[in-house]
Amino acid sequence: MRSDELFRRAQKIIPGGVSSPVRAIKPYPFYTVSGKGGRIKTADGTDLIDCCLGYGPLILGHAHETIKNAILEQLENGWLYGTPAEQEINMAERIIRDQPGIEMLRCVSSGSEATMAAIRLARGYTAKKKILKVEGGFHGAHDSVLIKAGSGATTLGIPDSAGIPPGVAEFTRQVPYNDPEALEQILAADPDIAAFILEPVMGNIGPILPDDNYLKEVREITKAHDVLLIFDEVITGYRLCIGGAAKEYGITPDLTTLGKIIGGGLPIGAFGGKREIMEMIAPAGPVYQAGTFSGNPLSLAAGIATIDYLNAHLEEYRHAEERTRAIEESLPSSAGGSFVRLNSIFKYFFRQNPPNNYKEAKESDTDAFGRFWKGALTKGVFLPPAQFESNFLSFAHTDEDIETIAGVYNSCLP
Ligand SMILES: *Cc1c(COP(=O)(O)O)cnc(C)c1O
Repeated sequence: MRSDELFRRAQKIIPGGVSSPVRAIKPYPFYTVSGKGGRIKTADGTDLIDCCLGYGPLILGHAHETIKNAILEQLENGWLYGTPAEQEINMAERIIRDQPGIEMLRCVSSGSEATMAAIRLARGYTAKKKILKVEGGFHGAHDSVLIKAGSGATTLGIPDSAGIPPGVAEFTRQVPYNDPEALEQILAADPDIAAFILEPVMGNIGPILPDDNYLKEVREITKAHDVLLIFDEVITGYRLCIGGAAKEYGITPDLTTLGKIIGGGLPIGAFGGKREIMEMIAPAGPVYQAGTFSGNPLSLAAGIATIDYLNAHLEEYRHAEERTRAIEESLPSSAGGSFVRLNSIFKYFFRQNPPNNYKEAKESDTDAFGRFWKGALTKGVFLPPAQFESNFLSFAHTDEDIETIAGVYNSCLP
C-alpha cells in the first residue's frame, strides 16, 4: 500500500510519523490526496465518506466552491501584509453580531492560541493566579490546559503531559462536568481562581451534553464568586447553530474562544468578550498578546465566506439535525451502547448509557470501538479514529452518504 510506504518514510523523520497524535492510526494511517464535498480520496485509491472533516472545521465539506473562490480572490491580492487589513474588521463585526457576549474580538492563528490568550487575559483582568477547567475538557496543547485533557491526550493515555512543571500544573484546578455542587465548593474554598474555562458541550471526549440547567448554574455560581466564565466554543461555534452553545442554551459568558469553523478550513482562532475585559489586551492595555499570522487575510477570506454562507443557509442546520436523528434511528435494537447527538455532532459510545462526565466516558469499551471503527472504514466510512473524538456531518454529505453511514451503524455494531 502506498500509505504504508509513506508512513515508513514519515516515521524516520517525524515523531510517531504524524503531525498531530490522534492521526497515528495503527498499523499505519491512510494518507489523503484530495477531498471534495463529504468525501476524501486516499493515496491507496480508496474513496471514503468523511465524518472527521478535519476534526470539525469543514462544516461545508471539502473544497466548497464558495470558499475556494473567496480564497482564490484573496490569493490574487497577496496573503500576508503585517499591517491592518479590512478583512479583520469584517470578521470581528460578523462574530460580534452572531455570538452572544462578544463586544470586542481579536483573531489569532489557532484554537490553542485563543485559549492561551483568554486565560492570560482572565488572570490579568482579575489579578488572580489559578484557572479551573473541566476534567477531560480539551482547550489545545499548551501547558496550563494539558492537565486531565481530553482529545488525543486521553486516547493515548497521557491526559497529563510530561514536561509541564508541577509549579505550572498547580495553577490549574479541575472539576467534573455536570456537577454544579463541586463547582460551588471549589470556588467557595479557593479565592485565587481567575476563570472557569469549559467547553459548554464537551466536544473532545464525546460529545457529552450538559444536563438541563447545568450551564445556567455555572453562570450563576461563577458570577457569585467573581470568577470569569470562559466558553471554549472552538468546536461548538457555528456548529450547533449561529451563535454556538451560548445561543443554543441562552447563556452569556464573559469571554469566548473560537476557531475551527470560523477559518473555513484554514488555520485560525479568535477570542472575545466584554469590552471592559478585552480592553486589557495590548496595545490598549497591559496583557500582552501578539502574532505574525494573526488576522491572516487568507484564513479570514475563507472564514468570512463560511460565516456568510451559513447565515444564508440556516435551513441546513435543521437538515443536519434530521440527518443525525436518521442515523440514530438506524441503530439495531440489539445495540448495547449509547448514541449521543447534537445537531451535526454525533457519537456512539460503547457504554450502556450516555456518559455524563469524563469518568463515565472513560468506562467505554475502547477495544469494541476499535473493531467497529475498522469495520466502518472497510465499508467506506471514515470516522475519527478514537472513542473520545466527536463525529461530524457536513452540509455537503449527500442523502446517499447518510444512508451509507446509517448502514454502517446498522451492520458494524456488535
Ligand atoms: C480543537 C480545539 C482547540 C484547539 O484548537 P487548535 O486550532 O487545534 O489549536 C481548543 N479547544 C477546543 C474546544 C477544541 O475543540
